[in-house]
Amino acid sequence: MEPDEIGGYDQGILSLGRISQETPNVKYLPETTQVLTGHSYLNYFLANIKVVDSHVCACKEETETIHHFLFSCRLHDDRRSVFRNAVDMANLSWPPKLADIPQSKLLWEAMESFIKQTKRLNKPKRQ
Ligand SMILES: [Zn+2]
Repeated sequence: MEPDEIGGYDQGILSLGRISQETPNVKYLPETTQVLTGHSYLNYFLANIKVVDSHVCACKEETETIHHFLFSCRLHDDRRSVFRNAVDMANLSWPPKLADIPQSKLLWEAMESFIKQTKRLNKPKRQ
């Protein structure tokens, strides 16, 4: 993955410019606001602001971007099935575009459910 691409993914959904205030039925939980803004507890962002040393995911396979976390990290595979099914039902291929997710209430809720189950975007405990 090119650095530009990684940056693009982790500018979050809002900066992709396809979401507006009138996006239906979208309530922002603190966790999903991170996905929207790109300001997340994922290592890609934390390393950029020098909170952690490495931007690599705990799976050690890739940079921990929002895209990696939502769509490909194997550490969360077992919690991703409902989300994957929702993408199938929306007739989208996997991985979906980040910007497509808020266009569908079903997709949005499936993504939130996934995020909540992983607890990966919960506020980290202080060391
Ligand atoms: Zn990973």
